[in-house]
Amino acid sequence: MSSQQEIVVYSAALVFPVTSPRIADGAVAVLGKRILHVGDRRWVLEALEERGAQYREEHWDGVLAPGLVNGHTHLQYTHMAEVANRNYRGFDDWGDAFDAVYERVGHDWAAAAADGAALSLAAGVTAAADVVTDREALSALHTAGMHGIAYWEVYGADNAGWTNEAKDAVREQIRSIPSPPGAGVSPHAPYSLDVQPLLELPDIVREEGLRLHIHLAEAHMEREFDGIDGYAGPGGHGSWPSLGADSFRALRSHGIGVSSTQFVDHLGVLGPDCHIAHGVYVSAEDRALLRARGTSVALCPRSNEVIGLDMPPVAAYLREGNQIAVGTDSLSSSPSLDLLADVGKLYRVARDQGYRGDDLHQRLFGAATLGGAAALGLHVGKNRIGQLGVGAMADLAFFDVPTHNPDVALAELVEAGAGRARRTIVAGVEKYNVTSG
Ligand SMILES: [Zn+2]
Repeated sequence: MSSQQEIVVYSAALVFPVTSPRIADGAVAVLGKRILHVGDRRWVLEALEERGAQYREEHWDGVLAPGLVNGHTHLQYTHMAEVANRNYRGFDDWGDAFDAVYERVGHDWAAAAADGAALSLAAGVTAAADVVTDREALSALHTAGMHGIAYWEVYGADNAGWTNEAKDAVREQIRSIPSPPGAGVSPHAPYSLDVQPLLELPDIVREEGLRLHIHLAEAHMEREFDGIDGYAGPGGHGSWPSLGADSFRALRSHGIGVSSTQFVDHLGVLGPDCHIAHGVYVSAEDRALLRARGTSVALCPRSNEVIGLDMPPVAAYLREGNQIAVGTDSLSSSPSLDLLADVGKLYRVARDQGYRGDDLHQRLFGAATLGGAAALGLHVGKNRIGQLGVGAMADLAFFDVPTHNPDVALAELVEAGAGRARRTIVAGVEKYNVTSG
């Protein structure tokens, strides 16, 4: 038997499968890239012995959880940390600082993306929604052996420039994304693209059965407001499409107060094959739209803070039942790619916003695992992730957290889990181990 086909039993003081109850003194048996068995350690070992299977056991005296899923990042901006070193007064202010560094010559996007993948793995992240602007960075997840979706970003396309050649170029880019991971397209944002590309990009993606992802409700100007009479306010949204505006910015210049979420929904962008990043400036009506379309939101609170935005309404999302995931965004707007730092931030924000439920730890840890998988469409099917269950991908993260009490361990992971990852396995292969650097 090659070492690839050997059964390895990863036992741990505490196992968090996410899709089933927590297990004290639990174990996850792995064969090749998949999970063979999950449960009480004694029971897993007995089951293997009963069928005469050979196995090797590796014990961890901490928490064993599914690999984390980063619901929104740009690995290629990992060398742009200087941009995130100060605070900004909003999206345009940050955007100017970003552009000044991005436009410098001499970036090695492939190397930066590879470093971002390594930092992710060292934080227990095994999959990501990676938004890619430069083709040298397209294969970062693939090269690192990570799961997730590489999204080709389409930025700044206007109606005049949205030609057949431009459409073919997008098709060619998404076909050049190496598999695994999965592939998708990210129309950048409603204010940076005209109506025509926003209408047609989803069709191009959906023809191929791929995924969509968009920055939405991140900038102040995307929020709903009471615009000119007859076009905004309760029940008044129906008439703005008849204006035939070329872009969201054009609607704004007409004084139309429709939100960016309602705008892209009208164009058919949302759906269960699409997830959004940020979702800060959303009304109750916007959140209801996201639920109705089956669209998840990846919350990136530390990035929002650096840029000088408000905090996302995480308490409302949770109370109302929206599907949420957690993202770090990139090092150009966030201090680290450690997803649990954003989870801890969301915990404090939710409490500040009045969320009192005793399920908060569980729901936020779920958002960083299964919720991320669902946002990317990877929570079900043969290659499912974000969970420790029989047949799922063997994506494992080991955390150094005291385990005497399962509730305390979960609270610690959610509120102060940053910097606690010690070992990371993707598809049965060790990708990070703190002892080996
Ligand atoms: Zn982003």
